[in-house]
Amino acid sequence: MGHDELAREVLERVRRALPPGESFSLHEPTFEGREREFLARCIDTGWVSTAGRYVDEFEARLSELTGAAYAVATVNGTAALHVCLRLAGVGPGDEVIVPALSFVATANAVAYCGAVPHFADASEETLGLDPQRLAAHLAIAAGRRGGELVNLATGRTLRAVVPMHTFGHPADLDALAAACREFGLPLIEDAAESLGSLYRGAHTGTRGLLGALSFNGNKIVTTGGGGAVLTGSRELAAAARHLTTTARTAAGWEFVHDEVGYNYRMPNVNAALGLAQLERLPQLVERKRALAARYRGAFEGCAAARVFEPPGYSESNHWLTAVLLETDDMAARDAVLKALNDAGIGARPAWRLMHRLPMYRECPRMELSVAERLERKIVNLPSSAHLAP
Ligand SMILES: *Cc1c(COP(=O)(O)O)cnc(C)c1O
Repeated sequence: MGHDELAREVLERVRRALPPGESFSLHEPTFEGREREFLARCIDTGWVSTAGRYVDEFEARLSELTGAAYAVATVNGTAALHVCLRLAGVGPGDEVIVPALSFVATANAVAYCGAVPHFADASEETLGLDPQRLAAHLAIAAGRRGGELVNLATGRTLRAVVPMHTFGHPADLDALAAACREFGLPLIEDAAESLGSLYRGAHTGTRGLLGALSFNGNKIVTTGGGGAVLTGSRELAAAARHLTTTARTAAGWEFVHDEVGYNYRMPNVNAALGLAQLERLPQLVERKRALAARYRGAFEGCAAARVFEPPGYSESNHWLTAVLLETDDMAARDAVLKALNDAGIGARPAWRLMHRLPMYRECPRMELSVAERLERKIVNLPSSAHLAP
C-alpha cells in the first residue's frame, strides 16, 4: 500500500468515528459543571493565591479519588515530578531511569536535580516502561558498590525508576515494582496523564513511593496549570508541603526558611477550577472510553492500522486514543499526519524520543528498539471528551 492510499484509508476511518465538524483539535478541556460558580466564589473570598480552602479541599478530593493517603497540590506536573525526585534523594551526579518514550518533562525533572536521565525502552503491550527488559538491562549494566547500585559504564549511582502511564494507559506496575525491589530502587510514577486510570483496581500514581499528577489544560481534568504529589507516607507528604512552600518554617510572623525551597504551591483559584472539574471526572472517563470504542469500531477489519488497546488488567482513562500503523516507516506516518491535519483533524505523533533531543543525546540508555518502532507507528487522534458519541 502506498503512503497516499494508507493516508486516505486512515482519514476515512477517523472521519467515520468523529461527529460532523470542520476542525478537531487533539485535546480540549470542557467546562460544563460548576467551574464558573467555584471561580466566582473563590474571587469573592479574596483568597486567590497560595493559600485558601480550595487547595485543602482539592487535595482531600484527590486523596479520596486516588486512594493515596496524601496529596500535595503544586503549580504544575513538572514541579510535582521535580519534588518527587528530590524527596526520593535524587541529587547532582545521580542517574534516574526514565522512559525514552515520554513527554520531555519526565527527563527535565531529573535534569533539574542535577542528575542524568538513563533512558529505558517501552513495552509494545502497555506503551510504558518494559519491566522485563529493564531488569535484564540492569543485570548487565549495573552493579553494587558500597550498598549503592551503580551504572558500571558511567560510575554514577542509579537512584530511582520513573515509569510513565502513556496516554493514560497504566504501565505494568506489578512487574516494575518487582524489578525495583530486585535492584533496591524506589519507584516513582509519572501519572501526569493517568488521573482516573486503574491498574488491577488501584489508582495509578499510588503504587510507588511517590507519584506525580498533572492538571495542565490538555489533561483529562484541568486547573489551568497544576499538578500534585501523591504519597502514602506522612513524612514525605510533610516534606513535599515544606519544599513547595519555599521551605518556610512555623515562626509566627517572621519569614524563616530552613533550606532552598520552591514556590511550587498551587494557587487557590486554580484549585477552585480543579474542584469543579474533579466532580466530572467519572463522566469524562466514561466519555473518553466511549470515544476510544468508537475509534476501535471504525478501524475494525483494517489491515493497515489498529487502535491501541491496553491489556485487560488495566482500566484506562483513555486520555488520548492512538492508532498504530502496521508499517514502521516514518514517511508513512508523516503522510497520514499530513492528510489528517489537511482535513482539519488535529492528529499528532508521539513525542520525539528523549535520546534524540539535543540536550539528552549523550545520556546513557539501554537498547531502545521498541520505543523507536513505536515512534514511527503512533498517530494520536482527537480525543476531547466532547467528541464522544
Ligand atoms: C503533562 C505531563 C507532565 C507534566 O506536565 P505539566 O505541563 O508540567 O503539568 C509530565 N509528564 C508527562 C508524561 C506529561 O504528559
